[in-house]
Amino acid sequence: MERLKKRVQHLKEKRPGYGEVLDFYQKVREVQDSAKSSLKIDPIRPKKEWKDLLAKEGFSLLQKQDFPLDIEASFTLFQTLCQIGKDANPHMAEQARKIEEVLNSKRFDLKELFKKGIEEQRIEQMADEFGLDKRIFLFLIEESTRPSVELGMEQLRTEVDPETWHKSNCPICGSLPFLSLLREEVGKRYLLCSFCGYQWRIDRLICPFCNNKEQDSLQYLYAEGEEAYRIDLCERCHQYIKTIDLRILEESDPCLEDLATLHLDILASRKDYKRPVPNPWTT
Ligand SMILES: [Zn+2]
Ligand SMILES: [Zn+2]
Repeated sequence: MERLKKRVQHLKEKRPGYGEVLDFYQKVREVQDSAKSSLKIDPIRPKKEWKDLLAKEGFSLLQKQDFPLDIEASFTLFQTLCQIGKDANPHMAEQARKIEEVLNSKRFDLKELFKKGIEEQRIEQMADEFGLDKRIFLFLIEESTRPSVELGMEQLRTEVDPETWHKSNCPICGSLPFLSLLREEVGKRYLLCSFCGYQWRIDRLICPFCNNKEQDSLQYLYAEGEEAYRIDLCERCHQYIKTIDLRILEESDPCLEDLATLHLDILASRKDYKRPVPNPWTT
């Protein structure tokens, strides 16, 4: 946490325009971090057939809704995040107040929602039903359950070899990657799961979204003086992934670095490239 705070401070000095969103990020990570120490989830016991399906068919070990959650801790965290949200940007603040009203009116049972697991469609339906901004509601649900999800991922980590998976989807939960990371001297490339945080190895030159390997149609985009960040564009599917070079940034928090380089996403979007998994913090 101390390292994260220092990095946030540094980024704020370097890019003052990001101040508000970085403050919000730090506050959320602080409460998530303190929730971790007392977290309790049902242990996940991987069955042999899960592993067979993973090896033979490439099916992920779990689906999003199968992750066991600490219902009480997620509920408390959700309430805390709404409090923090009220001091964030005006749209977030308005939504956080609206969500609190719905919760207090007892018109829907958040714990019941957590019990059924994280299912995007159902969460979006609820948002519609109560006239809430879907992206913000989903963001708050996902961030309040993130400590449980990451704990579940930790339990399954040893079931997969991250060096040999080499596919586009996460072997633990099946989600698409959020970022790509370069590490070690030789610059091994890893993908970072957008849902559970698992990391696995992938080829240096490949588009993780359409598996294009033709070098001529894989391009990079840099901002001057920011060699630690790169946008990997694919001309075939017209999508991109951001790459963070952890050889330069060492053990930095990739999600934070992504958030502090939204100018690169704007650059890519001006060239009409799409990001399949956007950063949820930008809502
Ligand atoms: Zn995953
Ligand atoms: Zn592609």
